[in-house]
Amino acid sequence: GKNFGGFGDKINEEKEKRLQAQEQALEAQTELNKNLDNMVRQRTEELELANQKLKELSFKDPLTGLYNRRYFDELYDIEFKRAFREKSDLCVAMVDIDHFKRLNDTYGHQVGDQCLTKVASALSAQLRRPPDIAARFGGEEFILLLPSTDLDGAAVVAENVRKAIEMILVDTEKEMVSFTASVGVYSAVPTERDEMQEFIKKADENLYKAKTEGRNRVVAN
Ligand code: GH3
Ligand code: MG
Ligand code: MG
Repeated sequence: GKNFGGFGDKINEEKEKRLQAQEQALEAQTELNKNLDNMVRQRTEELELANQKLKELSFKDPLTGLYNRRYFDELYDIEFKRAFREKSDLCVAMVDIDHFKRLNDTYGHQVGDQCLTKVASALSAQLRRPPDIAARFGGEEFILLLPSTDLDGAAVVAENVRKAIEMILVDTEKEMVSFTASVGVYSAVPTERDEMQEFIKKADENLYKAKTEGRNRVVAN
C-alpha cells in the first residue's frame, strides 16, 4: 500500500543518506591524509635545509663564505701532521688588507664588507689545487694553506693573489674604490710534530715585514 511504500522509500532514503555521508567522510579522510602527508614532507624538507644551514654555519664564515677560523684550525692540524709524516712542504700565507681601517672610516662598513667579500672571491679564484685552503682568519685577515707547495711556488701564488686583490674595484655611490693587500709567506717541511704555531708565526712576521717595507707586497723567505 501507499503507507508501506512510503515507509520503504524513507528507509531507502536514509540508507542513501548514510552511504553518502560515509563516502563524504572517506573523501575528507583521504584529503586530510594527503594534506598531512604533504605537510610532513614539507616539514622534513624544511628541517633538512635548516640542518644543512646549521652545518655550514659551523664551518663557514657567513660574510665571505670562506672557511672560518675554527674549521681552518681543524684542517690545518690534519694537513700539518700529514706534511710532517710525509716530509713534504707545507706553506702558510697570511693576507692582510692595507689601511683597511681608513677604507672603513672613509666609505663605511658596508663598503668594507664588500671589499672583504671580493677579496674572498679573489682568493678562491687563485687557489686552484684541490688541497689548497683559504680561510678568514680574523677581521680583515685571511690565511692560505698550500700543501706540497715549496717557497718558490708559494711566492708565485701569493704574488698572483696580491695582483688579483689590486685589480678589485668596489662601486660606492661616490666612486670606484680600489685597495691593496700585503702577504707574508712561509713554507718548509715540518721537522717537529708540534711546530704548527711556528709556521703561522713565521708567516705573520713576514706579513709585518711586508707592511713596514711599504705594503702591497709579498714577503717570502
Ligand atoms: P694595515 O695596512 O697596517 O693593515 O692597516 P689596517 O687599517 O688594515 O689595520 P688595522 O689592524 O689597524 O685595522 C683593521 C681594521 O679592519 C679595523 C676595522 O676597522 C676593520 N675591520 C675588521 N673586521 C672587519 C669587518 O668584519 N668588517 C669591516 N667592514 N671592517 C672590519
Ligand atoms: Mg690586520
Ligand atoms: Mg690591515
